[in-house]
Amino acid sequence: MSATTTSNQPVPMLDVNRQNQPLQAEVDAALAEVTRSGAFVHGPACGDLETAIAGYCGSKYAIGCASGSDALLLALMALEIGPGDEVILPSFTFFATAGAVWRLGATPVFADILPDTFNLDPAEVAKKITSATKAVLPVHLFGQCAEMDALSEACGDIPIIEDAAQAIGADYHGKRAGSLGQIGCFSFYPTKNLGGFGDGGMLTTDDEQIADKLRVLRDHGQRPRYHHSLVGVNSRLDTLQAAVLGVKLPRLDDWAASRQRHADHYVNEFDRLGFNQQSFGASLTLPVESPGCTSVWNQFTVRVPGGRRDALQSFLQEREIGSAIYYPVPLHRQKCFLNLGYAEGSLPVTEQAAEEVLSLPVFPELTRREQDRVIAALAEFSGIAYVPSERHAA
Ligand SMILES: *Cc1c(COP(=O)(O)O)cnc(C)c1O
Repeated sequence: MSATTTSNQPVPMLDVNRQNQPLQAEVDAALAEVTRSGAFVHGPACGDLETAIAGYCGSKYAIGCASGSDALLLALMALEIGPGDEVILPSFTFFATAGAVWRLGATPVFADILPDTFNLDPAEVAKKITSATKAVLPVHLFGQCAEMDALSEACGDIPIIEDAAQAIGADYHGKRAGSLGQIGCFSFYPTKNLGGFGDGGMLTTDDEQIADKLRVLRDHGQRPRYHHSLVGVNSRLDTLQAAVLGVKLPRLDDWAASRQRHADHYVNEFDRLGFNQQSFGASLTLPVESPGCTSVWNQFTVRVPGGRRDALQSFLQEREIGSAIYYPVPLHRQKCFLNLGYAEGSLPVTEQAAEEVLSLPVFPELTRREQDRVIAALAEFSGIAYVPSERHAA
């Protein structure tokens, strides 16, 4: 294959097969163990994974469930949140964060975000706290923890539930995502940093009573069997998923390190090309890590100011280079939430982000050659010549 052909290969936004295929034999063995045992519901692999995740996140307890969306729902149920209660959360997030609040009959109260990290602005949260506020639900977006110290201060006694679906392993001043609030919620959806072969989720907490309640709630509220003190849901982590995740978890730190290398390479090369991180007039604004925070880079998300984002995405698409917009429509502007009464312009930082963000490939198995194709295309779009800083082995 000629060098030209190679350099024009498509670059995917994400390729889960590159990660999973080398693990095929190990995964097959783990799955075979489950099928042999026939323990499909709450089999030993589930308990093993809960113990491992609790240890990994630095939490006392971890409780498996069927998805990240259910983890959020169960967390809110454990805090007995329902009609008449308000939960403060960002509008710039995946739908599930607000969907869980809505499904319990509580009111999502959207607060604006910080422009540099896209995470909840503690000052905006403070303004929205009322006597009806029963929880604050920050999202550790794109792999970086929200400003938890300032949020805790703003919240006082109001519990904080972390939506850590995108941030397993992220570090905040020496503590990990999921161990920073009352309850942490994780997702094992295939695009997350720890991705299963389908849906899966986990909750973390240091509170023994909450942990116990979560175990009852995820299993129809029954304990002992057929005796229901609570109305729960059917939301169990599948043993087959737990077996797959048990094979993948020991590799998670290596994958995070690869994501970090890719992020550093983007930043170094974009710096070298003169894309100015500070100036909003520049053709690109790069993501930043807050002091004391280590991102796990679930996404590498740049801003493209000046109304050129969609043109850039089309430009990349024409060159078969993957990119994605997380998220094009903020939740307060979704049709299903319009009756909450948030006018256009009510969350200006969120709305501007939705118009400017573009996420670039950053998955662990992305090759340097592929990454340099992404960088070269961005440079070309901006009218800058790009020569990769190092030559690649063929
Ligand atoms: C993926 C995600 C969820 C939902 O997780 P699922 O496992 O897909 O239900 C919730 N919140 C955020 C921020 C997410 O990225």
